[in-house]
Amino acid sequence: MIAGGTPFDVVVRNFRLENRDGLADIAMSSGLIARVGDRVGGECLAELDAGGRLVSSAFVQPHIHLDKVGTLPLLGRNRSGTLAEAIDILHVTKRSASPDEIAARAGVVIRQAIASGTTAIRSHVDVDTIGGLVPLRGVVQAAREYADLCEIQTVIFPQEGIVRDPGTADLMDAAMREGGDLVGGMPHWEPDEQAAREHIDICLRLAQRYDADVDMHVDETDDPGSRTLAMLIDATVRHGWQGRVTAGHCCAMAAWEDEYAAKVLADAAAAGVRFVTNPATNLLLQGRGDREPRRRGLPRVKQMLAAGLPVACGQDCVHDGFYPFGAADQLQVALIFCHAAQLSVPSEIDAALSAIRHTAARVMGVRGYGLEPGCTADLVVLDADSMHEALRRQAARRWVIRRGSVVASTRTTTTFHGRDDDEPGPGTR
Ligand SMILES: [Zn+2]
Repeated sequence: MIAGGTPFDVVVRNFRLENRDGLADIAMSSGLIARVGDRVGGECLAELDAGGRLVSSAFVQPHIHLDKVGTLPLLGRNRSGTLAEAIDILHVTKRSASPDEIAARAGVVIRQAIASGTTAIRSHVDVDTIGGLVPLRGVVQAAREYADLCEIQTVIFPQEGIVRDPGTADLMDAAMREGGDLVGGMPHWEPDEQAAREHIDICLRLAQRYDADVDMHVDETDDPGSRTLAMLIDATVRHGWQGRVTAGHCCAMAAWEDEYAAKVLADAAAAGVRFVTNPATNLLLQGRGDREPRRRGLPRVKQMLAAGLPVACGQDCVHDGFYPFGAADQLQVALIFCHAAQLSVPSEIDAALSAIRHTAARVMGVRGYGLEPGCTADLVVLDADSMHEALRRQAARRWVIRRGSVVASTRTTTTFHGRDDDEPGPGTR
């Protein structure tokens, strides 16, 4: 019972918490965590027995393209496996898609994300002269449909460039008027350095006009000469937008000279730039032109973590021309991240788990994130004793709780036949 005698909405009993011995209860009221303790007394409207399972703050998806998910069956094959061909073959569906069709594809993936424990998603959405504002309308339609289950932010993303696709700047402005949340960008897609700088300035001016944050694709290329992260940092400072800019992908960084990389990362820290790496998609797309050894398509993750830079990780693509896999499952993304960035000691594994939780929430500006009283009651209950175990075994997400209500539950069972014992299978308890 909370102060004043009102019963709690839900009390979840017998949880295991990270970094805490024994089991605990969590009481939730009005969508917030009201109390965390050994044995929370008082009345409640509903009770859930977690049976010793682990509870975590819900997962956060800081980078996905919901307008493109599920398009693979509609496309020609990406024969080269490159980013360029993926962008090219998508034009067909972009011309013919309707908001309803996009909302239906996005809805399938949003449900998968929620079922796997995610309650906040940031989606980039193409805005260009091919699809106009149709992709945005489709994703906004899906976002409204699932608003009670998941917070969804939209990033206005000029996938075809701005300078090289005349008319896009006006469309981006219209998209922000229609309710886009953030301004995106892709300056390395422009034909030259001057156009890339112009692209970034157009985006920053637009962001200032709408008082919006910026989340831009930069240096998603193997070209070691790609400099768009440095250009973005420079523009961030010139426009006074420090602390409001996120840089995604940043693949070229791996091939930069050490001295140059250190300087750019120091400048990024000073400008409050945050980062999102997309290890699954970029492992697959980058390095296609390399002879052995092949690059991994990731920025300098260990160096960035050591410098204290916020590095979140995202899914990017699901079942489309860029990436034929993906389940919108951030625990899967974190496991791929560990492999791709060679994160293997406990503190590094913790950083990978933060990249889909606290750091991702910080990048997205999710309010009230955490497990303390007063935080939003967005939780995931995992069939595991610890987060490292959950990551290793890709543990089942038994319950997903959004603002104090159970919104998804999953039960998996394995039976061994012809044996007397009843050992659980992977992902089960
Ligand atoms: Zn992306």
